[in-house]
Amino acid sequence: MLTIDTTTGRFTQGFAVALTGSDIVFQFQDENAVRHNPEGTLDFVDFANLVRHIPNRSFTSLDIGMDDWPMPESDVEYSAAPSDLLLDFAAISGPLFGHTCAVQENNTVAEPIESWLAAAKVLNFAVRADSLTGKPERVIENSLDGDVVYKVSVGASSELFGHGQIVAAIKNFGTVLPKPYSSMLKLNDEQRSKLARCVPYGDAIVHGEWDCNESYTAYAFIELPDNSGTKPASRVLTGEDFRRTDTMATDEEMNYEQMLAETLVQQLVSVHLVRTYVGWGVFYNDKLDRDMGTLGVQFNNYLERLWYTFGLHHAGGKLGICRHCGKLFSADKERKSTKIYCSKACQEAEKDERAKARRKRKRRLEAEAAKRSTAS
Ligand SMILES: [Zn+2]
Repeated sequence: MLTIDTTTGRFTQGFAVALTGSDIVFQFQDENAVRHNPEGTLDFVDFANLVRHIPNRSFTSLDIGMDDWPMPESDVEYSAAPSDLLLDFAAISGPLFGHTCAVQENNTVAEPIESWLAAAKVLNFAVRADSLTGKPERVIENSLDGDVVYKVSVGASSELFGHGQIVAAIKNFGTVLPKPYSSMLKLNDEQRSKLARCVPYGDAIVHGEWDCNESYTAYAFIELPDNSGTKPASRVLTGEDFRRTDTMATDEEMNYEQMLAETLVQQLVSVHLVRTYVGWGVFYNDKLDRDMGTLGVQFNNYLERLWYTFGLHHAGGKLGICRHCGKLFSADKERKSTKIYCSKACQEAEKDERAKARRKRKRRLEAEAAKRSTAS
């Protein structure tokens, strides 16, 4: 029988994995595999890199009704990594969605590739949002442009301040997501209200919300008191326009864009962890050479575990987006926090491209100068 080790969210048995048509199929053996503790690993970065974000959506800032939200039908576009990378990851991780796609009689689990990629996109977004809150040298300022829509309302009726200014970021993942991933993101009212927690931050109150009724949307809000007495107005802004009015980011304080990105990240982590619980699991104690009960967070599946590892990493981690190829990376092992390329190869390639551009410019200027001198 297939059983899950709830301390890791993984099945206890060993397996072989193959791609068949639209599924990733895991064939389990009867024997238990050596348990692998994912604590502190960067599996989540590898998983998020199974897709690559294509920055292309553009929109323009516009006035909007107080209660209106701009809602794109679908998420931004991503390209998928080659299937051998998907297989490599699956060979280590095992199934992502726990028992959902398991067929107990055959000891198999067949999970739709579509669902894997959808889950990788959401985590990819979260890692990019996370990297925005990092050290200034590593941050790519416009990395979420086209992905996130901002809304600023003045003279709004704020639940907390009465008359308030509300600064919000909205990230929409589309109206349709494949199963079984979509079921994981469908929360009931009680679960959703559990996630809508307000955190004081300076003069402001920060909170997030998750909507899964009409589309899968994460909201982040900053509420500020507003005594300006201005007429109520509400505006949807692009990232670029939003940054023009944003507060200054310093080493000590985040600007609004970073606070909103941070709140979106927290919200997404919480959504994925809403069904985890604190309880007893079993782990293999090397010294005693036997299984021992252990108290801690228990996971229903490995996707929850990936999000948990990402969430833990958030406080002290150094995540970044490669300036050259867009791949996500961790700079945890770097002493300085200035790493901006995923690899030496990308750093060299970027240097070459710049040198090439410089040479081209030089040649153009020389040609223009020659033309001028012959003309005169
Ligand atoms: Zn790169």
